[in-house]
Formats: sequence, C-alpha cells, structure tokens
Amino acid sequence: MPPLKKYLFTPGPVSVPPEVLLEMARPLIHHRTPEFGAVLDSARARMQPLFGTRQEVLLLSSSGTGAMEAAVTNLLAPGDHAIYVNGGKFGERWGKLLKANGMIGHAVISEWGRPVRPAQVAEALTAHPEARAVFVQASETSTCAIHPVGEIGAITRGRDVMLVVDGITSVGVFEQKMDEWGVDAYLTGSQKALMLPPGLAMIALSDRALARASQSRAPRYYFDLTRELKSQRDEHTTAWTPAVSLIFGLNKTLELIHAEGLPQVYARHQLMAEATRAAAAPLGLTLIAPDAPAPGVTGLLTPDGLDGSKLVRLMRDELGVGVQGGQDQMKGRLVRIGHMGYLGAFDMLAAVSALEIGLQRLGHRFTIGAGVAAVQERIARSG
Ligand SMILES: *Cc1c(COP(=O)(O)O)cnc(C)c1O
Repeated sequence: MPPLKKYLFTPGPVSVPPEVLLEMARPLIHHRTPEFGAVLDSARARMQPLFGTRQEVLLLSSSGTGAMEAAVTNLLAPGDHAIYVNGGKFGERWGKLLKANGMIGHAVISEWGRPVRPAQVAEALTAHPEARAVFVQASETSTCAIHPVGEIGAITRGRDVMLVVDGITSVGVFEQKMDEWGVDAYLTGSQKALMLPPGLAMIALSDRALARASQSRAPRYYFDLTRELKSQRDEHTTAWTPAVSLIFGLNKTLELIHAEGLPQVYARHQLMAEATRAAAAPLGLTLIAPDAPAPGVTGLLTPDGLDGSKLVRLMRDELGVGVQGGQDQMKGRLVRIGHMGYLGAFDMLAAVSALEIGLQRLGHRFTIGAGVAAVQERIARSG
C-alpha cells in the first residue's frame, strides 16, 4: 500500500498552497468582463518584480515550452541563425524548437552540471556573426546548474542580438534583473516557483524585442505576442480564452509571495538549497553542479553501483516522497530534489530523511541520520 500522505519534492510540478487551491475553486467568471480584467491586470503587474522588469508581462495559456516557442517565432524568421546554450535537456530543447521552426541553431555546449562560460557565447557570436539571438536557461533544471545571464547580457546588449532567457526554475526562486541584465525575452511557467498547477506561462519582452516581434515574418497564430500585448495591455483581456482559474490562482500566489516579501522568498529558497546540499557529503554523495548550484533544485549523484531510478521509485512508491531522477546520460545516476513551491526549510528534513531510508534499503553504507543532522545544522545557523 502506498502511504496516504504524499510529499512532492519534484522540480515541477510542485505543491500548491491551500489558499490558492481554494481560490482556483471559485465559480468561473467570463473572461471578457471588467472583473476578469482587474485580476489579469493585477497578476501581470505582480509578476514584474519577479522578472526584475518594468516591461509588460504577458500571460499565455500553455506550459512553459509554449512561451519558449513564442519567443522563437516572434523574434526570428525561418532561415535565421541563432546561438543556443546547450548544457542539458532544456538547453537542447532550444535547438529542437529552432529546428522545428525552420531556423538554424548553433549550439554552445556546456558540460552537464557546469555553467556556460560567457566567453563561449562571445566566441560563438564571432564565429556566427549572422546570429540574431542567443537562447539560454537561467537555471538548467535537468542538471541543477545556473548560467550567468547577466554576463551574457553584457555581450548581447551592444549588438543586434536578442537575449532570450528561460527562467522556468529561476523566476520566483532567486533575484532576476531582466532590465538591468539586458534580457530581451524572459519567460517562465506556473508549475515551478510560482506554486501553481501546470498550464500557464508568462513572458516579458524588451522594447527592442517588441519592435522586432512586430516585424517578424515567422508563421505564427496562437502565440502572436504583438497581438497579446494589444489585448492584455489595452483591452485587459487575453487574445484567446485564457486559463481563467489558473490566473485567479496566479494572482493569489503572487499576493502570498509579495506578502512574504521577495527578499524573504529568495532567502527561503537559498536556505532550502544550502540545507539540502549540506546533506550530500555526510551521505557520501557528490553534487552534480558544485560550481553554480541552482537554488531551486539540488542534484545528487548516486553512488556507483546503486540504481538511481530504483531509488527514486522506492522513495515515491514505498515512502510517498516524490523526487526526480536524471535524464539521458544521467539516467539512473542522479537524484534531483526540488525546493520550489509551497515549501519551507523543514520540508528538507522529510526529503533528506526519505533519501537516507531509500539509500539504506538499497545497500548504500553511511551513518543513518547524518544527512538529516546536516540539514538541521544548516537550519539552526539561519536564525
Ligand atoms: C520545467 C522546465 C521547462 C518545461 O516546461 P514545460 O512546462 O514542461 O513545458 C522548461 N525549461 C526549464 C528550465 C524547466 O525547468
């Protein structure tokens, strides 16, 4: 029998606060009404500080990948060249999106778990002077590493090259400075740090990106950001029927986030990340991304000879604790513990405790409780 009580520590989807679940259970209203317009306006405005922007934030009814595709098709045309940072599964997705839309992507490869070096991006732009955009993740969720977006922005902002950032496990987790960094398109999705179910994406464009989008020749219809801007800014509604209940939920989660205070929200994520990382050494595990670890998700390499997929299954099915394994070359070798969503530092005690039980049942040798103690030590020092 699987346990009755379940815990969700996956790097998306995440657990949703009860207030938000109730908000989303409210009777539906029509989306072409002043009542909906007020909620839409409020949610869009409350998103701006999370991106670090004064630009308009647009809401799209799709998962995060929809916003990634919107950035591609609104800023480039078929036949255009672009640079993309491929340091994991989501970086790879930029390449697939470019190809599917008839564009030519040039990959800048960064080793899994390592941040890309800004010089690599500069070199790629020199090698491909025709490139019209650079695509990158602020946090590469598949490898639990962050990329230096600000430093990449310093390279792109002086050229006619758009910088497009996937902020899906960054926005709402740690401070983002879209305007200061010179990011031209910043996007995120609902089911990670925004403490919501999947199904909603958010994107903001710089002035020069808006200018380019209004001239883009790429075929597109559903994700026409020029049209969305006109609807959302001027008409207080969306171009198409929106995910009304999710937008109610977003407005509520953002109310909670701003009530807690953004610096406090970022500190909470940092504490959860540091507490989780502290458990690695006492358990004899190594971090996949030691140089630039993501504050939203921690990746622990499993010991040689221990099947990481089995560990993840055991934790989920026998202990009721959801974490995620690795993909591709990291399949069976990685455990990813997400610390985004409706979570606090003490939840990491449950996550690490379950990890220890799983490791012990699979025969890994270590002192039981050593990881949990390290989490406690880190929390104790935060006072
Ligand atoms: C989760 C995630 C995505 C995927 O978005 P979907 O919502 O599954 O479409 C993209 N990029 C990053 C960095 C993610 O963490």
